[in-house]
Amino acid sequence: MQYNSTRNNTCKVTSAMAMKQGLSREGGLFVPEVFPTLTKEIYDKLMNQTYLQRAATVLSLFLEDFSVEELEDYCEKAYGNQKFGPGEPTPLHYTDDKTAYLELWHGPTCAFKDMALQMLPHLLTASARKTGDDRTVCILVATSGDTGKAALDGFSDVDGTKVVVFYPKDGVSKIQKLQMVTQKGNNVFVSGVNGNFDDAQTGVKTIFTDSKYREVLNEKGVILSSANSMNWGRLVPQVVYYISAYCDLVKDGKIAFGDIFNICVPTGNFGNILAAYYAKQMGLPVGKLICASNCNNVLTDFINSGVYNRNREFHLTMSPSMDILISSNLERYLYQISGKDDQYISTLMRKLSEDGSYEVTDTMKETIKKDFYAGFASEENTLSEIKETFFDKQYLMDTHTAVASSVLKKYRKETGDETICVVASTASPYKFNENVLKALGQEKPCQDEFERLALLQEVSGLEIPKQLWELQTLEQRFLSSCEKTDMKETVTGFLS
Ligand SMILES: *Cc1c(COP(=O)(O)O)cnc(C)c1O
Repeated sequence: MQYNSTRNNTCKVTSAMAMKQGLSREGGLFVPEVFPTLTKEIYDKLMNQTYLQRAATVLSLFLEDFSVEELEDYCEKAYGNQKFGPGEPTPLHYTDDKTAYLELWHGPTCAFKDMALQMLPHLLTASARKTGDDRTVCILVATSGDTGKAALDGFSDVDGTKVVVFYPKDGVSKIQKLQMVTQKGNNVFVSGVNGNFDDAQTGVKTIFTDSKYREVLNEKGVILSSANSMNWGRLVPQVVYYISAYCDLVKDGKIAFGDIFNICVPTGNFGNILAAYYAKQMGLPVGKLICASNCNNVLTDFINSGVYNRNREFHLTMSPSMDILISSNLERYLYQISGKDDQYISTLMRKLSEDGSYEVTDTMKETIKKDFYAGFASEENTLSEIKETFFDKQYLMDTHTAVASSVLKKYRKETGDETICVVASTASPYKFNENVLKALGQEKPCQDEFERLALLQEVSGLEIPKQLWELQTLEQRFLSSCEKTDMKETVTGFLS
């Protein structure tokens, strides 16, 4: 199976090439030429497999230049007990007969980006080797918090890789900063930047587009790469857990084999919900895909009107990983429903970068309405959803998951559709402890982050993830920061 670029149908590459390259030369995203089909035979196999085995089975359908044995090995490294502890990596938590929270945050950083970033390093290094490239893959990341730590942990001590993370010095939470500066591994480096997230991001982009610098690195045997969600290697591991969740619903007797179920996802960059759409393309019996936003509701408006318009106020919310106005992965979906019209997609994306907006055709608008329902949750909705679910259903969730949960309620009320729904639960409530405590009516001032973790445990009875609790005892390895103009020198310094 080959991969096309969303902006050039004549471009056809293998999965290894798609992952090594990240973006196509025209700036398009790689998409599979055809979607593999989930046959009865494959389902029979999946039903009796563990998550690790299911992951290898599903990945092998997309990554034909990888053997099942190779993929099984990566799955063990990515999702094994060492990383996800004992028990299944992505358990379902039922709050009633029609609602199942798919917990994607039992990995090393307590958020769902682990599901992709634990797998990506193995796929990337193997992709380099399979395409005849023996250079060291150096990942550069600018982070507003979650992605940086997930990339550090995923790439830590993976042979043939290095990772450098820049974060805005005063722009991440205390726990996020601690998570990053205590990262172990001989191939990792972390630096603060004197500036905000945009400064860090711009600095990283400048390094990426500096062809002379790339040449210098090339001579040193280093190739730069990115860990952002445009890379196919970050998207494809996410298809697995929706298929696995369906198998679990059937095995748990919640639905019969072949029955449809809905999926509700708290959405930012449109990566996670796109993975659910792709699973549906493979034949998974998914009804509605429910796209939940916070008050940065550019996707809600788009799905409801067909007009994408990023020219609007940007809000900082209590679900910061969804504070996004350009959802990069939407391009892949638009390509699919435009009948793979690469020229049309190029035009839309040009409009987006020039005017900040575009409008799709009437036919596409109809398709979008059939595939998706969209809604958003205000900050107040988010807090009350956490509170109600905790007191009515004894289930504690984080702010991102609460956005999804709140939008699901609106969906059910508006449409009367009571089909069983899987809600993607994307972070541990401990990771966003301050607002979770606020939702529960606990605003007692705390000395530090760890006192708050302890308070949340006392209030909720849910155990503190040890990955977060042990942060207070770990050595802080990376205490330096740099000016935004010195980021390239920082990278050079680390690499030599
Ligand atoms: C990244 C993230 C999201 C948004 O996922 P997308 O794939 O960008 O739509 C939601 N919740 C959490 C906790 C995240 O870290």
